[in-house]
Amino acid sequence: MLYSKETITIHNTEKEVFLYLKKTRNHSFRITASKISMTLPNIYTNPDTIVRHKNELLDKIKERLHSEPEWVVKKRILDQTEIFILNQPYKIIKSFDSKAALDLDFHRKTITRPEVISNRDKTAMAQRIIKNYHRPIEHRVRQLNDLTVAKKLYHVDIKNNQSSWGLCSSKGEITISLNTAFAPLWVIDYIIIHELCHLVHHDHSAQFWQLVERYYPKYKLAKKYLKEKGMELVL
Ligand SMILES: [Zn+2]
Repeated sequence: MLYSKETITIHNTEKEVFLYLKKTRNHSFRITASKISMTLPNIYTNPDTIVRHKNELLDKIKERLHSEPEWVVKKRILDQTEIFILNQPYKIIKSFDSKAALDLDFHRKTITRPEVISNRDKTAMAQRIIKNYHRPIEHRVRQLNDLTVAKKLYHVDIKNNQSSWGLCSSKGEITISLNTAFAPLWVIDYIIIHELCHLVHHDHSAQFWQLVERYYPKYKLAKKYLKEKGMELVL
């Protein structure tokens, strides 16, 4: 259950922090490109207790963000001059017309952006990219599935999901984050193979990583890329 939400500022960057109360014993937090989640046990009901534990977690989060500034998004994908969507280059043209809208031309491979981009514009653009790239991404997932674990796949979805690069359900549904589409193809392939290997092992056990390595021997390089550059693959 979402209990509260706040914004913290760190290295001049605003980050949204969500507090969840869940059936758990642990106090934990998770930092992703766009948001930070904190989780406390839902046995806490007294607001003072919750706030006290929440503040402890917030201190830890701030400490982590200060010591590892790569967790703070400084540059978003549209701040670059050229981006790649499934390895296709798109030129980003800055418009100085204050009324200009964020626009993407799939044919000319250009993106026109105003100085300030609203969240609404970003969401609309995300939906257009997903619509246009769903088929080639799904094709890649099915192709790699045939070449590797060869499991039954039900659904392949692309979602504007900020909390993970990919997801895999035990029913054989693979979800790829839109942010993944902005990575180089060799990294996209790693994310897809990672999710496909979850159709065999539903955890991150040693056996799981052995399987990933078998189908993608340089997986550590891809993980390194995501750790270092992943924060820049956000609309
Ligand atoms: Zn995984």
